[in-house]
Amino acid sequence: MIDLRFADRVLEVQPSATFKYDAAAKKPGVINLTVGRPDFDTPQVIKEAAKKALDEGRVHYTPSKGIPELRKAIAEKLEAENNIADLDKDKILVSGGGKQIIYCILMALAGKGDAVAIPNPSWVSYEAQIKLANAEVEWLTLKPEEGFVPGDDFMTQLEETNAKLLILNSPSNPTGAVIPERTIKKIMDICAEKEMFVISDEIYEKLIYEGKHYSPASEYENVITVNGFSKSYSMTGWRLGYCAYANRDVIDRIDIIHQQSLSCCTSFAQYGALAAFSDEAKNASDKMCEEFRSRRNYVMQRIREMDDVVCVRPNGAFYVFPYFNGPDDLELADKLLEKGVGVVPGSAFGSQGRGCIRISYGSANTNLLSQAFDRIIG
Ligand code: PMP
Ligand code: GLU
Repeated sequence: MIDLRFADRVLEVQPSATFKYDAAAKKPGVINLTVGRPDFDTPQVIKEAAKKALDEGRVHYTPSKGIPELRKAIAEKLEAENNIADLDKDKILVSGGGKQIIYCILMALAGKGDAVAIPNPSWVSYEAQIKLANAEVEWLTLKPEEGFVPGDDFMTQLEETNAKLLILNSPSNPTGAVIPERTIKKIMDICAEKEMFVISDEIYEKLIYEGKHYSPASEYENVITVNGFSKSYSMTGWRLGYCAYANRDVIDRIDIIHQQSLSCCTSFAQYGALAAFSDEAKNASDKMCEEFRSRRNYVMQRIREMDDVVCVRPNGAFYVFPYFNGPDDLELADKLLEKGVGVVPGSAFGSQGRGCIRISYGSANTNLLSQAFDRIIG
């Protein structure tokens, strides 16, 4: 056998905890509340558009940044809905999911000697991707008792950091927290003052139950906006996400990473995504959001009945992140799996997630959630 030596980067980075716990929960009888994905089908109008593209023979490479029609529709959406000015199709890059887009941005902007600040806790892939880019991770503290919304400690750490980049994520994975506009502005003012660049990951933008989404790029120059189709239109398997920035040169640099690793996204998936801008798809997305709201309400009602659990009601995404005063979260996740409920342990998302578990109500209806909570408390 050849003694294969792996590159340092792959030895430093863990497999994705969300995928790992999802795989462990794929057993008969287990209610899987691990992975963050909507359990709905993709709206029919989007599927029809992709089928039509296949029938028309749209099976070849597309322009690297994405088909112009799709990029134009994205630029118009960001101008109309998110108040981001001065965009056009050349300032948009479509890649293989929000995950791939963030990876491309980090590979283009962060490297050896750079630090990237992320909230603690954060979605698992930020930390891994920063390390893959050979940069350092700087954690900024969020607290369960503050509903994981950035507070004084977060702001002080942000003021003191030497990080070059900050990743902001509202609504948040894993906490479901929606950061109020005034707090985002406070963060952005600090970053502008320090000449820090911000990646605003807005993938859960449409899943807000109270409050309003605010895109910092509507008022600030130093921010790249990231979004995608996975969560709003239940298109996790289509692998399409995008970023936008008002300076085309920056997008062209990020495109070098995308082009040299993926070339372009799947052709017919892009034609399908174009139909996500139709009224029919928007109505389907609104309906999903309403269903998630009632699931969130149900889950919170069950959590409030539990003793010794801290969980401020989250206003968005499809996660709750309760803090259990006592047990180790890794052991708790294993114990719950034995009881037939798959969850992700909170420490996978950063040290501030210790003692928490992430429950995704995106992928289970209220009936299943009810059975899951009966097992959790049983
Ligand atoms: N950002 C966050 C915060 C997420 O939770 C996810 C979920 N996978 C993504 C980005 C990327 O999603 P996708 O690659 O499916 O677009
Ligand atoms: N973002 C989802 C989650 O956190 C999907 C899996 C992943 O990309 O990590 O469960």
